[in-house]
Amino acid sequence: MYDLIVVGGGPAGLTAAIYALRKRINVLLVTKDLGGKTNFRLGLPWIEDYQVIRGLEIINKFRSEVDYLEFARHMEGVDKISKDGDIFKVVTKGGGELQSRAVIVATGTRQKRLDVPGEKEYIMKGLCYSALSYAPLFIDRTTVVVGDGDLALRSAAELATVAKHVYLVCETGGFLDSPLGKKLNVAGNVTVLAGTKVVEIKGDQFARAAVVQDPSGKKKDIEAEGIFIEMALVANTKMVAALVKLDDQGRIIVDCSNRTNVPGLFAAGDVTNTYAEQVLVAVGEGAKAALSAYEYLLPKL
Ligand SMILES: Cc1cc2nc3c(=O)[nH]c(=O)nc-3n(C[C@H](O)[C@H](O)[C@H](O)COP(=O)(O)OP(=O)(O)OC[C@H]3O[C@@H](n4cnc5c(N)ncnc54)[C@H](O)[C@@H]3O)c2cc1C
Repeated sequence: MYDLIVVGGGPAGLTAAIYALRKRINVLLVTKDLGGKTNFRLGLPWIEDYQVIRGLEIINKFRSEVDYLEFARHMEGVDKISKDGDIFKVVTKGGGELQSRAVIVATGTRQKRLDVPGEKEYIMKGLCYSALSYAPLFIDRTTVVVGDGDLALRSAAELATVAKHVYLVCETGGFLDSPLGKKLNVAGNVTVLAGTKVVEIKGDQFARAAVVQDPSGKKKDIEAEGIFIEMALVANTKMVAALVKLDDQGRIIVDCSNRTNVPGLFAAGDVTNTYAEQVLVAVGEGAKAALSAYEYLLPKL
């Protein structure tokens, strides 16, 4: 029986695990990998390594400490988390069952993919899923944003503040009536391609063009230096969907101390309804969740 199980080894989970270790809690980190999304970094031909701060560099100390402390980690996916009385049961993919008095869920999100030829080949080579993180690197560059919803509109609007041109490819054009949509429609450096879809990504070493198709089936290449797929971020909450309260986007609802509606169950990082999917935000939320779990556990330690 553990005092605390942390599920997910990205910035939020790694930070939570290290904080718990420092508090001398009997903690186990259960995760599919160490580092989470910081293992990905967008490569751009005009950006040198020294010009950016890498997410992995920020959390590397935490990562290597957990890597070294073998007893504190278990490398496997989690299938289900349930609660029986005061005890949590964490069932892993292989069917193993772990028990603890408290749990922190820090399983992040996954990006909805386009699933077209060329997408996989150019992931993080000019094609990426986070304008929020990379828009400032596209000063005077031509970009394509793909998506129909709020995420795509916000990404296109942010890019439009720095980029030479932004093409917004939105198949249904559903959100174009919103204030942001109206703003994009009249912006001088934005072309809204409503009713079109991306059918292929082309390039050499890097993605160089999105092939778009209009409703009549006609295709054309849109050359760009950055292609952003901004369709949706899907929270990895399947393992707790039957246990905890989620918001309308499927994210775990937490209060400002990272508590969920289930006593003893905490959550941190992108998987929650906390504002902004960023490494430093996730690190801070992971620390808060661990301190909050510690306070919950204190009478039981
Ligand atoms: C392409 C891309 C580029 C980005 N670039 C930047 C950037 O430059 N700067 C920045 O600040 N932010 C960036 N971000 C955002 C940043 O990476 C995230 O906000 C941050 O990683 C969130 O941390 P997290 O710990 O909440 O989740 P994640 O990093 O997603 O980690 C989730 C962890 O949970 C594990 N996991 C998932 N499901 C399970 C399961 N069922 N069982 C066990 N483990 C599980 C995963 O293996 C992973 O270890 C970027 C995001 C993307 C997608």
